[in-house]
Amino acid sequence: MTEDLKKIFVQVAVALPVNGTFTYILSADLTNGLPVGKRVIVPFSRRKVTGYILRVIPPETRKGLRDVTSIVDFQPLFPSDMVPFFEWLSDYYHYPIGLVIKAALPSGLNVKTPKDKNLPSGGYVDKVGVLKRVFIAPAEAVLHPPEPLGESQARNERAFLEMLFQKGELSLAEIGKAFKNGPYLADKWVKKGLLKKIRKAVVREISGETLPIATIPPLLNALQRKAVEEIATKIKEHAFFVYLLHGVTGSGKTEVYYHAVKAALKLGRRSIIMVPEIALTLIMASFFKARLGDRVAILHSALSPGERYDQWLRIAQGQADIVIGARSALFAPVSRLGLIIVDEEHDASYKQEEQFRYQARDSATVRAKLSSAVVILGSGTPSVQSYRNAASGRYGLVAMPKRVQKRELPDITIVDMRNLEGSEEGSGIVSPPLKQALGENLSSGNQAILFLNRRGFNAFYLCRFCGEALKCPNCEVSLTYHKDSDNLLCHYCGFRIEPPNHCPSCNRARLIPYGFGTEKVVEILGRLFPDARAERMDRDTMRHKGEIQRVLRQFLDRQTDILVGTQMLTKGHDFPHVTLVGVLSADLSLNTPDFRAGETTFQLLSQVAGRTGRGSSPGKVIIQTFNPAHYAILAAKDHNYQRFFSREIRLRRSLNYPPFCSAANVRLVGNSKVKTETIARHMRAKIDGILEQHQGIKKGCTVLGPVESPISKLKGKYRQQILIKSRSSQRLAHLLKELERAGGPIMGSAGVRMIIDVDPYHMV
Ligand code: ADP
Ligand code: ZN
Repeated sequence: MTEDLKKIFVQVAVALPVNGTFTYILSADLTNGLPVGKRVIVPFSRRKVTGYILRVIPPETRKGLRDVTSIVDFQPLFPSDMVPFFEWLSDYYHYPIGLVIKAALPSGLNVKTPKDKNLPSGGYVDKVGVLKRVFIAPAEAVLHPPEPLGESQARNERAFLEMLFQKGELSLAEIGKAFKNGPYLADKWVKKGLLKKIRKAVVREISGETLPIATIPPLLNALQRKAVEEIATKIKEHAFFVYLLHGVTGSGKTEVYYHAVKAALKLGRRSIIMVPEIALTLIMASFFKARLGDRVAILHSALSPGERYDQWLRIAQGQADIVIGARSALFAPVSRLGLIIVDEEHDASYKQEEQFRYQARDSATVRAKLSSAVVILGSGTPSVQSYRNAASGRYGLVAMPKRVQKRELPDITIVDMRNLEGSEEGSGIVSPPLKQALGENLSSGNQAILFLNRRGFNAFYLCRFCGEALKCPNCEVSLTYHKDSDNLLCHYCGFRIEPPNHCPSCNRARLIPYGFGTEKVVEILGRLFPDARAERMDRDTMRHKGEIQRVLRQFLDRQTDILVGTQMLTKGHDFPHVTLVGVLSADLSLNTPDFRAGETTFQLLSQVAGRTGRGSSPGKVIIQTFNPAHYAILAAKDHNYQRFFSREIRLRRSLNYPPFCSAANVRLVGNSKVKTETIARHMRAKIDGILEQHQGIKKGCTVLGPVESPISKLKGKYRQQILIKSRSSQRLAHLLKELERAGGPIMGSAGVRMIIDVDPYHMV
């Protein structure tokens, strides 16, 4: 064999902010099975960095190619058919491919060993993060412990050996449980050569993952049956297709998902189910585990790094047929993918807002296309974008406009907070109509949900004298008072201080708390309804692992009467005994500086309203607002999606907003206000220059800005933004590529970074 035959050439993406991929040489003694999808350590300029093997490529004759230093993984972390998907993500979102893959892989996996707090006894973590356990087994395959063990041995020791020979193999932990001196005996007989030690990889158990779920599927109603039939037919075709499943809240979409997953399974194809919230992962996973058993894997960020790693490997090795998770389940290393379900597809949490800014729902359709799979986008309140795609025939539309078992949609009342009478304390928070409804609901023994998308006790601290609100020193936002911790807290960067006695601007002792958050609502409920059991569900109370399950379970078990919560409470939950929902302020989402404000408000109100009347008793909803005539609020009140959609789509068309254009937000972020502004102006000039040079790109393109971002300073960085809109996503992509190329030199050493946000959601 010649020297060359022992070498293969591989295309590697490095986990660094650099564009493109690199060729390395892999010597045969490093390879063990297929190299694609494994991590490697490679030399890069003068460092060693982590990379990912994308492809084996034909030998190159170029000089100076370097060798792979080492291979990290024994098993590939992703199948080779995911490589084109990673490439698309990198291209479309203008983010380096190595960092795309790094973001896709479970965190805690980047060379360092994942940490686990509670290792099972006899367990240890090897150098790539696999949890291994020690097992003890007879050294030879014989049926009985050989004599002369007989009389001379203690009874206990004899029983120990009998057990081992009978079972064939036991973990050290099991042995320790059965015999107090088991580990000692195991050690003794291993030394004597009668038993042997085996180290085996085991999957970490995810504790407390399941909630009680009825296992027997109900008989489908006519609408569900029609939906399942249509979708299953497409799944059998093995071709790419997207369905929008427009089913009102309580129409039984989960059953449709279940039957679609089963249809795919029957054909030997796997499914990914994405949900917008970690808490919903638990519920969805419990549902599918109860119905389909063990071949369900779970991926979300609340798992420990070790747990996530194990779930990941199970999927990569084909041991799971259904993957359930939040946004990041998009990247699950599933091969033979047949179906992707995006539940509550309208939800903004599918958009990642940090570092790698991607839209998981949109990307899911691309992944499905590359795998010839079917997508189901499910929602009671579809995004304007998806509904338009369905209306124009690009997607198939499956509608389930009725709730199961003829349950009624709840009756919605709007309370105009502008003309509230009376000055009863707290009536600006819980209005008299809401208070009355709560009282009636409690005395009939039912449960209620109150929704407020602001945690904390008071929204801000204001100086009565100079009118200044206390602001975060790192961000241009006011600080929120949290009574639990007696701290003023920045919800953007986590900065906290004890409330000062004097105004930092005028030094007078006139600081007064204003506004309210979930914490205060619970306190007021305690005063209004001393006998009611109220609980809070927001990011402050859900910090600890297991807390979500506890609160959900107690609410399901009716140990809680009123649940007060933020966003995380609004989505998907099925609480049969909730008959009243109160929206404390519909205005918070209406007043965000964002072209989707109307859409988000409509969705939010409809979704929260959908949490009630899901059992046999009808539900009631009360919405408090200062904008009672807003079209989004009125459409939500009447459960009229069509009216909302036609109004909204007209507005978008007239203002030339998505889906009538593709947009990108180019943000400049820097330590110095002046430099950031200067660079932003230079960037605008660059954009104009590119457009002049490429008249093709200029067609149908509008550039707005630079302007200061609505939050002009965040985490100590000054922020400017330029919004680019284009009639064509290809031309926009082309422009952004040119801008990336031209941008680097301008920024030079000014300490300003350019962040490209394609299809932006939050313009703050
Ligand atoms: P959605 O996700 O559309 O809001 P779910 O899937 O949560 O609705 O279903 C709402 C409730 O209806 C659940 O309790 C579910 O068990 C029940 N359900 C679903 N389909 C049926 C059916 N065909 N017959 C009776 N109950 C059903
Ligand atoms: Zn801050």
